[in-house]
Amino acid sequence: MIIIALGSNVAGPWGTPKQTILRALTELNHAPCKLVMASKLLDTKAFGKTDQPDFTNAVAEITTHLKPVELLAHLQFIECQAGRERLERWGPRTLDLDIIDYHSQISHDPNLLLPHPGIAAREFVLVPLAEIAPRWCHPVTQLTPQQMLRLLSSG
Ligand code: ATP
Ligand code: CA
Ligand code: CA
Repeated sequence: MIIIALGSNVAGPWGTPKQTILRALTELNHAPCKLVMASKLLDTKAFGKTDQPDFTNAVAEITTHLKPVELLAHLQFIECQAGRERLERWGPRTLDLDIIDYHSQISHDPNLLLPHPGIAAREFVLVPLAEIAPRWCHPVTQLTPQQMLRLLSSG
């Protein structure tokens, strides 16, 4: 499975964060990608840097013939079209697209860490992931989204 996490908390050329996420989902259904399933949109409090507007988040399953690094470049191209400026990590952004999992591949390259290192700590990834891929397993820990959510809430 190829899983992408989407996030937005600033209006941009595609409109409000909600409109931006919806537009990004349609972009993920254009060649060279195909959208298999998308979660509901989720309103979440900002993570990391908390003094910024709330986020709209979602998770999508896609298929593509692109290799992981090619897919990352394609996602960054979509982020650019949505008006993304790279200012600070975890700062406000019009659109953030992260590769959560690429067919269970493991990569330690800091330019493309696979699976995404933030999964187990991020409710805004785990909740929509549990919705669209309840049977999906973390490639390293083998935990399902529901199991990771339980661990998260138990502290
Ligand atoms: P986080 O990755 O913790 O969610 P972020 O999304 O705010 O933080 P960005 O500023 O969007 O971070 O991206 C920083 C760099 O992270 C990118 O240039 C990219 O090369 C790298 N990166 C590493 N692994 C991944 C991944 N799985 N998906 C997307 N980008 C990744
Ligand atoms: Ca991110
Ligand atoms: Ca990112």
